[in-house]
Amino acid sequence: MRAMVLRRVGEPLALEDLPLPRPGPGEVLLKVEACGVCRTDQHIADGELPPPRLPLVLGHQVVGRVAALGEGVEGIPLGARRGVGWLGGTCGACKFCRRGQENLCPEAEFTGYGRDGGYAEYTLARAAFTYPLPEGLPAEGLAPWLCAGLIGYRAYRMVRDREVLGLYGFGAAAHLLLQVARHEGKRVYAFVRPGDEAAKAFARELGAVWAGDSTEDPPEPLEGALIFAPVGELVPKALADTEPGGVVVLGGIHMSPIPPMPYRLLWGERTLRSVANLTREDAQAFLEVAPKVPVRAEVEVFPLEEANRALEALRGGGLRGAAVLVP
Ligand SMILES: [Zn+2]
Ligand SMILES: [Zn+2]
Repeated sequence: MRAMVLRRVGEPLALEDLPLPRPGPGEVLLKVEACGVCRTDQHIADGELPPPRLPLVLGHQVVGRVAALGEGVEGIPLGARRGVGWLGGTCGACKFCRRGQENLCPEAEFTGYGRDGGYAEYTLARAAFTYPLPEGLPAEGLAPWLCAGLIGYRAYRMVRDREVLGLYGFGAAAHLLLQVARHEGKRVYAFVRPGDEAAKAFARELGAVWAGDSTEDPPEPLEGALIFAPVGELVPKALADTEPGGVVVLGGIHMSPIPPMPYRLLWGERTLRSVANLTREDAQAFLEVAPKVPVRAEVEVFPLEEANRALEALRGGGLRGAAVLVP
């Protein structure tokens, strides 16, 4: 099979021919239909998030069809469309797993990080960590659901009881969540990279009541804020934009240092918290709500071989929506 392989951080991915992997016990082999390109992939490729092993096949937003079943896998027919996200496996026994926080399992395996992912024609996944996906939609439109959607939704759940929300960084996650938030009657303010008029227009098109530069003040105080841009300066800014009792959620896995800030920004019982990974329950909840909205991902499709160009587009910030690779 063809795969785009990360051999060394800081170097472009290499197109290679790899042997077709065989599913072990509890695993499925998926023929990849599409795989999303996530900011996390870029952080891994650039070494900001050092990979636990090399060489590595990136990609944790995989839409595929079951091509082979490992021993003991039941209830998943050959040919079924399944999705794989960042959470590739957990121990199932530690205190985090037992109390519904499998996202924090110290033994957790992550797709396209500890396990090979979907920048390839085929990939292996633990069957219990794959999700059924709807048939009627194109694979490239579903791929962003599997990280931008799933982990974004976990972040959104932390502010779901609020009415006035700010989204900081208007990329793959924000453009999907804005649709869910609008569907649930929220007033959403979108903050974009200063001067990015295209992103502002896109946010307004999708139903943001206001879109402005991330340096601008919102017209009303926020009740909740979600930060998806990996920019530490946005933390004091979002706290300043948020009313007492507000919640600021950091949705990324990597962020530049957070600058020192006066205590008064946090005082007033504001909550500042991160979101790490996701649970399968988050995934199921998002996959239940997404088709009802319905969530439509704006995608830019790249052939598998052009994964480096897709990563470069992500670094440059010029993408509208999400980048997706198609083998
Ligand atoms: Zn565990
Ligand atoms: Zn991701």
